[in-house]
Amino acid sequence: MAPTILFAALPERWVQYEAPLRTALAEAGLAGATLVTEAAPETVDYIVYAPNSDVQDFTPYTRCKAVLNLWAGVENVAQNPTLTQPLARMVDAAGLTQGMVEWVTGHVLRHHLEMDAHIHGLNGEWRKTVPPLSRERPVTILGLGALGSACGTALAGLGFPVTGWSRRPKKVPGLRCLSGADGLDAALAEARILVLLLPLTDETENLMNADRLARLPRGAVIVNPGRGALIDDDALLAALDQGQIGHATLDVFRTEPLPPEHPFWAHPQVTVTPHIASETRPDSAARVIVENIRRGEAGEPFLHLVDRDAGY
Ligand code: NDP
Repeated sequence: MAPTILFAALPERWVQYEAPLRTALAEAGLAGATLVTEAAPETVDYIVYAPNSDVQDFTPYTRCKAVLNLWAGVENVAQNPTLTQPLARMVDAAGLTQGMVEWVTGHVLRHHLEMDAHIHGLNGEWRKTVPPLSRERPVTILGLGALGSACGTALAGLGFPVTGWSRRPKKVPGLRCLSGADGLDAALAEARILVLLLPLTDETENLMNADRLARLPRGAVIVNPGRGALIDDDALLAALDQGQIGHATLDVFRTEPLPPEHPFWAHPQVTVTPHIASETRPDSAARVIVENIRRGEAGEPFLHLVDRDAGY
């Protein structure tokens, strides 16, 4: 019997995703599937899911084989005690990953090339400052998953010495890969530019606290497209004011939208971007979702499953 797929996300997402999902279902030989935004829970085989949807209690979805997250971040669903079905997260090389590589590369190059000094700082004065080459600017990426590995590889390709840090030991060609507590200290000690691409879990919350910010080389730049709560906000503001951190480019925040009164908005050494580092792209993401549905129907293992104990 053809599966019933519930699309549980905000209505504006349905507008974006309905056609790409139907196309991908047809391409996968699943044109007979029922794709809906409302269904009796006991009839649903798969839930295409955004954590900000109305579905927060998974108990009635007794037939559901998998919950397929539209987002890479799962911190708002991984700990849901009613979720007993497998949970897959979004890994979308052609869309989400490519977007993140472009955003991270752009912001790293902005700081590496000291572009702000030329865009805003000359004020009519012919003053030459030549930035170093990439090989003289070590970059550290915390998180070597789908996004961190791709960003690290791209930056290494531009000549930056890239160190990556992950929970478990890992090898990524062209990168110095570290793990564990000692690995973190070593990764921070050399980071002239630090990129955060960790998931938010109990272990990573406030990872960049005052002590770890102090371990960075003086004047280091932080680029955070991971999650806001990876950084202790007050410690970051203090480190910026003391010159320990030279600049912070932040795409994600504890509260989003970032409240108008938050000091990050007005701080001269902070760049705020409104959680746009990378978006799930409907055409490619629909194919990722449908590949998992195809697998479920064929009895094959799902891709990109979340380790609920680890929280990501
Ligand atoms: P992955 O799950 O593929 O990778 C996570 C990485 O973090 C892995 O290398 C993992 O280690 C490492 N990690 C997790 N916990 C720890 C820990 N306690 N100590 C050290 N390393 C740890 O995630 P993605 O790369 O796909 O995404 C990363 C995050 O990016 C997402 O969770 C989300 O928060 C954020 N994001 C932000 C977007 C934006 O627009 N701003 C868009 C998309 C994602 P290991 O390899 O050992 O498992």
